[in-house]
Formats: sequence, C-alpha cells, structure tokens
Amino acid sequence: MLYATHAEVNLAAIAHNVRQARSLAPGKKVLVALKAQAYGHGAVPVARHLVAEGLVDWFGVATTPEGIELRDAGIDTPILRLSHCFPEELDAAIAADITVPVVDATTIDELARAADRAGRSAYPVHLAIDTGMRRIGCEPRDAVAMAGLVAERGLDLQGLFTHLPISDTPRGDEFTRAQLARFLAAVRDVQQARADAGLAPVPLVHASNSGAVLGHPVPECTMVRPGIMVYGYYPDPEGTPRPVELQQALTWKSRVSFVKRVLAGETVGYGRTWTAPEDSWVATVPVGYGDGFSRLNSNRGRMLVGGAGYPVAGRVCMDQTMLDLGPATPGSQPPVKVGDEVVVLGRQGDQAIGADELAGLMGTISYEVTCLINQRVERVYRD
Ligand SMILES: *Cc1c(COP(=O)(O)O)cnc(C)c1O
Repeated sequence: MLYATHAEVNLAAIAHNVRQARSLAPGKKVLVALKAQAYGHGAVPVARHLVAEGLVDWFGVATTPEGIELRDAGIDTPILRLSHCFPEELDAAIAADITVPVVDATTIDELARAADRAGRSAYPVHLAIDTGMRRIGCEPRDAVAMAGLVAERGLDLQGLFTHLPISDTPRGDEFTRAQLARFLAAVRDVQQARADAGLAPVPLVHASNSGAVLGHPVPECTMVRPGIMVYGYYPDPEGTPRPVELQQALTWKSRVSFVKRVLAGETVGYGRTWTAPEDSWVATVPVGYGDGFSRLNSNRGRMLVGGAGYPVAGRVCMDQTMLDLGPATPGSQPPVKVGDEVVVLGRQGDQAIGADELAGLMGTISYEVTCLINQRVERVYRD
C-alpha cells in the first residue's frame, strides 16, 4: 500500500449483515447484489467471504463482465444478471453460466438461440415481471404467455421476479403492497398454467430488495435480493424500518500530508472559495474527487482526524483536499500533525461519518457514495 488513501472493508460486518437479512427471511434463499464492485466494496473478496461462510445462495450482477470476473475468481455460486442482456453478450453469459432475465418474446428467442448454439438444453432463465418500476420486465398480464414461450423454446423457467421502487419508506407502503399483489397474482397464474401443462412449479420467486427485506416480508417468495443492507446501510436513512442492527462495512482512510498556518484574509484552494476568517491551521489530505470524494463536498463535508471532525476548506481538488483546523493563535500548535490518520468515511474514536451524511451533503444516496470510491483507493480486507 504505497498510497496513503485506502478503504478498509470489514468482511465480518458484511457477513453479519447477511445473517440479519437471513433472519428476516427465514427459509428463503438469499441473492446478494454484488453489482458495481459490491457497491464499491470489491466484488470478488466479498463473494469469496460469503461463500466461505456459507451465507449465500445466489449473486446478483448488473453486467456480463461482472459475472465473468466472479467466475474467473473461482466463484461457482449461481449468478443472476439483474439487468437486460444485449444479444451479443449472450454467448459469453452462457459460457460463464450466468443466468439472464428475459422480458419479452424477442429476448426469449435470442436466449433460446444462444443456448442452442452453446449446446445447452434447458438453460435456466428468470422472467422479469414489471409491476411498477417501469425499467425491465413484461406486463403482468403477459406473464403466462411469456412463461409458456420459455417452456416451448426449451429453456428452464427457474425464476419469476419483480422489482420494488419504493419499498424503503412508509410513504410507499400502499404502492408496494399493490405491486406485490399484482406480482403474486401473476405468479399464481403462471404456476397454475404450468401445473395444467404438467410442468413443475417455478422454484424461485423473488421481489425483495433491502427495503422489502426490512419492511415488507413476502411469505410467498422463495428468495430475497438484498443489496445496500449487506454493506451496512438502510436504503432510506429516515424511512426504512430498522428491525435489525446493521454494521457499516467500509472505512475510507487517508493521512494528513501537510499542515500550515494560513493568515487571516488568505484564501485556500481553486477558485479562492474559502477565506481564512482569522489566522488558521489548515491541513492537506491526499484524497480528492479523483478518488471519488466528490467535488460536491467543497466547503461542506468534513473529515475526522484525532477523533474530531474538521470542515473541508475550499474546493475539493482532484487529488487533495484541505481542512480547516481552526484558529492559529500566536505560539499555538496545530491540533494535528503530518502522518495522522484521517477518516473520510467511517468511524474514528467516538465520531463517525456515514455514507448517509456525505450523501445528504451531495444530494444523493449512500449507494452512490460508496460506488464512487474508485480503483485508485486500494481496498484492504479484514475478517
Ligand atoms: C440492485 C438491485 C437489488 C438490491 O437493491 P438494494 O436496494 O441495494 O437492496 C435488488 N434487485 C434488483 C433487481 C436490483 O437491481
């Protein structure tokens, strides 16, 4: 680790969070969403740990390369691609044993032809049913026809699923309940049609993202799909019920690289947006928007040094950020020194900066804050 800025990922916390999800969905299979490098935590190490702990039945990815990366790392857990697959990716997806969703007659046909090319009969597939997200999936009224087509084309209908856009807040309870009712009615119709055709029921029925795992148990489902809660965050920091205690898994650290006295009236950083109100100690930290510490934190965020929070002074640069350490009275010493640990995100002493705090300042959600931490920031794993 030659670069002082790194992220520690606590794999035991991730395992704890998956156990909490399991406790809320007893008897169900668990698909852990690992897309976007496990929400910035690192897909392969997270996957390996969850497999070693025996805590996971499926992984969910967003892209074919994400699934292939897991396979190349030796992960043989079933993988579901959660988003739409373009036809030119299907051969690679099938070769890597990645299950893809189908949404209409065209995608069923494309997958059937790709499975034939690969010599894979009864290739598994999950049918996405759109009950209100309006992203991917067939209309509920078309589910029976699509399920029939899947069987006709020699594919194995292994899953039926939907997605819930507002399961994370009580404001969405009515909408979510109505979605689940539509979904379960479509599932019943598909299962009935299969029984009538002498086919076994579709084994995997799934709808629950973290919001639903925490707030909308669905007894009829056989699998849940938690994402953000696995990494320690409630999807809506205010609204989501908290039936279990989650542990935030990622701590983003750096070190103070320089400390100096800035005189009253002098400015700090690009654009000269921060002016010292009095003689002040200012620290420089080697982390910037080039690491994923958003420039939206300019003059608003804070970082922890020595267990205290210090505000960002001026604009966040690409590779460095300055902190206002407070007044530099004559003869005083700065409160921090070069080399001191800086916490950008996470806990230090009895202070903590959560992804929700940064997200609030940036006008976004915790998901984006951890996804933004980029490859330059080495992930260091603890278990
Ligand atoms: C990302 C994703 C999830 C997980 O969502 P969280 O809100 O992070 O729990 C579940 N299902 C699908 C289809 C997704 O794309």
